[in-house]
Amino acid sequence: MNTYGRQPVTFERGAGAWLWDTQNNKYLDAFSGVAVCGLGHAHPAVTAAICQQAGRLVHTSNHFGIALQEELGAQLTRIAGMDKVFFGNSGAEANEAAIKIARLHGHRRGIATPTIIVAENSFHGRTLATLTATGNRKIQAGFEPLVQGFVRVPYNDLEAMRTVARNSANIVAVLVEPVQGEGGVHIPADDYLAGVRALCDEHGWLMMLDEIQTGMGRTGRWFAYQHTNAIPDVITVAKALGNGVPIGACLARGEAAEMLQPGSHGSTFGGNPLACAAALAVITTIEQEKLVARAAALGERLLSGLNHALRDCKHVTAIRGKGLMIGVELNRPCAALIHTARARGLLINVTAERVIRLLPPLTLSDAEADLIIEGVAAVVRDFANSETAGAA
Ligand SMILES: *Cc1c(COP(=O)(O)O)cnc(C)c1O
Repeated sequence: MNTYGRQPVTFERGAGAWLWDTQNNKYLDAFSGVAVCGLGHAHPAVTAAICQQAGRLVHTSNHFGIALQEELGAQLTRIAGMDKVFFGNSGAEANEAAIKIARLHGHRRGIATPTIIVAENSFHGRTLATLTATGNRKIQAGFEPLVQGFVRVPYNDLEAMRTVARNSANIVAVLVEPVQGEGGVHIPADDYLAGVRALCDEHGWLMMLDEIQTGMGRTGRWFAYQHTNAIPDVITVAKALGNGVPIGACLARGEAAEMLQPGSHGSTFGGNPLACAAALAVITTIEQEKLVARAAALGERLLSGLNHALRDCKHVTAIRGKGLMIGVELNRPCAALIHTARARGLLINVTAERVIRLLPPLTLSDAEADLIIEGVAAVVRDFANSETAGAA
């Protein structure tokens, strides 16, 4: 179906941060398939894990024990600081599980119409519940009636959350991104998550973080919440977990980890041996190659490089980032930049109409990081010059 506005290019193979199209043109990938290929393309450890497991066993279903799922569960809960995990196949499914946990938590407390606080400008997925949680009318339009049980507040605004707490007895949870991705790489104040945690403690709400884009080392910690002292009750993970093999996970600790019981939730494919083998290889590789710390260092390099290269460009209104999640905001819509960058052999993304979003692989070399800085600075300067010329 005609669901995507695709760019006119098709890739045939990849290696690390590089992709080759069907004409054998080479591109530096600063998008990683929407933050999915954190280890770059065709990482040998992941490739070997997939090939080996495909030759042994791909799927048996959750009617039986799955050793690799248990092993991945142990690794993932360890790095995430959580107690238990449910495996699905995508980000939206991970969030669906979180939403169901919040509702069970509410009903257990005697709240018949449990309501979850979500943020403006957020993105949580495209299923009916997750598009309702998403703070973007374009994503909801045409799909009404939306799902009940969500109330929206501005992002990074604790006072708005306090007001909701005063006015509604039905709140059971908060679901926010620790850094908003699709919404334009918005980083909240340093004390925001701690403030959310305090409100959740005060009112008995579950603190649920959508770490689908921020997780797996992208921001310079395994999970973005680990930059703070606030420990959530639930986190959702997907994108980079399988480096391209579909897998999602909803992790929880304490009481929240005990809500789902046999019969209350499930997935046919979720946590199958193939996906778990890939994800285990991802975790092992990130640890062996010390890529979490590397993401933090690369992020610094890209931020300071971009700040320097674009310091006198008056079209740039902000450059912000956390690890390898970087946004360059312009003062006007700039979606055309993805095409001028691609023509130079650089793949970038523009989100929220005027924010260049960079999500390069954690395996980037310093030289590749510098190529991204050069490329982005060049296309932004050209764009600024042509816009100025056009206006004059
Ligand atoms: C991508 C994304 C999702 C949705 O994941 P899918 O795998 O496309 O369902 C949800 N939340 C955030 C923050 C995302 O970046």
